[in-house]
Amino acid sequence: MPELPEVETVTRGLNFAIKNLIVKKVHVNRYDLRIKVSKNITSVLNNLKVIKVKRRAKYGVIDLENEYSIIFHLGMSGSIVIDRNNKISLKKHDHIAIDFFKNNSKKFGVRFLFRDPRRFGFFNIYKRNSPEYNKIFKFLGPEPLAANFSVQNLFYNINKRHSNIKSILLNQSIIAGLGNIYVCEALFLAAISPKTIGSNLTYSKIEELYGKIKEVLLKAIKEGGTSIQDHKNISGEIGYFQNYLSVYNREREKCNKCTTLISRFKQNGRSTYYCQKCQK
Ligand SMILES: [Zn+2]
Repeated sequence: MPELPEVETVTRGLNFAIKNLIVKKVHVNRYDLRIKVSKNITSVLNNLKVIKVKRRAKYGVIDLENEYSIIFHLGMSGSIVIDRNNKISLKKHDHIAIDFFKNNSKKFGVRFLFRDPRRFGFFNIYKRNSPEYNKIFKFLGPEPLAANFSVQNLFYNINKRHSNIKSILLNQSIIAGLGNIYVCEALFLAAISPKTIGSNLTYSKIEELYGKIKEVLLKAIKEGGTSIQDHKNISGEIGYFQNYLSVYNREREKCNKCTTLISRFKQNGRSTYYCQKCQK
């Protein structure tokens, strides 16, 4: 499932590809995505210019003129494909296709495809700051790479909780954008067992964790994300952070620090990977 670095890779590429382009043709293959696609999406989008593409948590946001935004989520298997040569024909799982033209001309720019075989993702248009728009972002905590994410805030949120640290970090209202991969990795780098109860962690330990969360996310963005399953950038290229994973997806492989075999166990219904010796 795409997490912050994978979505960041997609939105950065998309911003570069479609910023300042104009929507000329919208084709909807399927309306029944996780959130139903608005029936008026084709008429509303037509002729609008893209202002910018950004990310919030695991959501991509395409800001357009006239106070409209597209919000999309890649779910489990979603991807965005940019065709610069107008050569790709629509396939079964291409639910939305948009042709963008160059500004003030009738010249083709790029074709945009929202592809999602398992349909856990969504893609829809919203009036900016409408109740429906705000509802999506309402309960999200701070961005871990933004200035308003502080050690004090993280400590406050972890310290008052009696659940395990892994589930606390997966809680999008405490910190936005982390999923299974980067929580496992950050906990390893900070030498914290995923089973540790939040309220038992000291301030200095949480300070270390805070630094490692930023470190792992920045490195993963630099590598274009982790491509273990479906993740690709908008040009169809994979990311490379899977080559730097310390614990995630490495069950029974040797820990890079101590050579103990990496363990995997089910925690809150999901696989947790960790080193029993390094993470106490
Ligand atoms: Zn180890």
